[in-house]
Amino acid sequence: MTIGPSQGALVVLSGPSGVGKSTIIQRLLEDPRFALSVSATTRAPRKGERDGVDYRFLDEATFHELVERDAFLEWAQVHGHHYGTLKEDVDTLVREGRIVLLDIDVQGARSLREKGVPHISVFLAPPSLEELEHRLRGRGTDTDEAVAERLQAARRELEAKDEYDQVFVNDDLNATTAALRGALLAAAAGSAPSTKAHTDRDEDPGP
Ligand code: 5GP
Repeated sequence: MTIGPSQGALVVLSGPSGVGKSTIIQRLLEDPRFALSVSATTRAPRKGERDGVDYRFLDEATFHELVERDAFLEWAQVHGHHYGTLKEDVDTLVREGRIVLLDIDVQGARSLREKGVPHISVFLAPPSLEELEHRLRGRGTDTDEAVAERLQAARRELEAKDEYDQVFVNDDLNATTAALRGALLAAAAGSAPSTKAHTDRDEDPGP
């Protein structure tokens, strides 16, 4: 897959559960230049999630069949379930010239880097782990045990943030969305995917 300014761009967005990634993505998608790659997953839908919109919800057998057919650009096991990015979907959107957002975890991001797939990578960090816990509990979708697991995963994911081209601390949804939109449009136009960013690094909240 070749990606240039007129051919769209691939953007990896990672960050712990509860950081506000989904909301920021929804806001970016209000601009038709952006598109979201809908991942496949073997986890059960959460309340309000729709098949084909939030995820393609698959059983394990179907997911493995797609792995065998080499249908995934990358896939990983996250929180005990399988998640994967479908090559065909991404290719179609990039060919349309869109900035395609991939909401994938740090393993998926590493896998794309190792495969040499050209992309811009962004890590969304919470202001602090305390704030993240507060948001996860407020969401009310996970049990106490699941929240504890997600917080532990968040600690591990935060350790990987320096592997990304850019790091944004989401302490204000509007400001973060605006800054991210600007940075992605500039990066896609300039097509300089691997330039390390300097912005927001000073706001590092630590693990
Ligand atoms: P959730 O279950 O909360 O929707 O997502 C859990 C984690 O899985 C998030 O960190 C999300 O970024 C990641 N994820 C979602 N889709 C994919 C995918 O296609 N590939 C990979 N590697 N991770 C994904």
